[in-house]
Amino acid sequence: MRRNLVVGNWKMHGDIHSNETLLNTLITGLSDYKSADYVVCVPNPYLHQTRSLLENTGIAWGGQNVNQFEEGAFTGAVSPHMLTDLGCTYVLLGHSERRVLFHETNLSAAARFDASIKANLTPILCVGETLAEHDAGLTEVIVASQMDAVMATLNDENFAKAMELNMVFAYEPVWAVGTGKTATPEQAQEVHQFIRQRIARRNAEAASKVRIIYGGSVKAQNAAKLFSMPDVDGGLVGGASLNAEEFIAICKAAN
Ligand code: PEP
Repeated sequence: MRRNLVVGNWKMHGDIHSNETLLNTLITGLSDYKSADYVVCVPNPYLHQTRSLLENTGIAWGGQNVNQFEEGAFTGAVSPHMLTDLGCTYVLLGHSERRVLFHETNLSAAARFDASIKANLTPILCVGETLAEHDAGLTEVIVASQMDAVMATLNDENFAKAMELNMVFAYEPVWAVGTGKTATPEQAQEVHQFIRQRIARRNAEAASKVRIIYGGSVKAQNAAKLFSMPDVDGGLVGGASLNAEEFIAICKAAN
């Protein structure tokens, strides 16, 4: 039985004051809902504040991206160790905003995945098709190429470690991210099942254990139906994770 996971992606939002209010409200609101896991992925400058508020609450925190190199002359970049040094246990990788706005590729996402595993960070790899790809019937081709880049990069040792770390995949149709349009539970289920089958090509046990979460305009009102699908193990929540009441309601729907 897989435990549901709900991840909040704050994107480039927040400040010290609003973060404190949001995080304290989450701590109180989720204290009685322990049958799912929760993570907030916050902007790097607020990781220290997040750690000081969330430590020992059961809510985990993570980065929104990471560099694949350990250290060096990479101005503006953050290494996996820097995230773990700040208590992060998760990191988002290959988010569609990174792919579209910052030109990240399947190969660079795979390199970051590999580097995260080596640093004991649980990667959450985002995959999903654009509207044009969706309309052209290319969803499975695109998702397969995004998944296969990671599978090809991980050697057996790192794949085993990725399993130990409970690697996560997030199906995020790009046409649903930040648009208010949500995939139907049936559409999500179809792609989640495809992702699980793709992992099974490498390792059947991993495929049955891995959590595949859905992202794309998840709200309190649509969360329960999405999470009730057999291969949907929770959600990756952008906009709605900035509203404490809404995010708490989504987290409750995962219990
Ligand atoms: C996201 O940022 O990963 C996301 C799914 O955003 P939203 O929930 O706003 O669509």
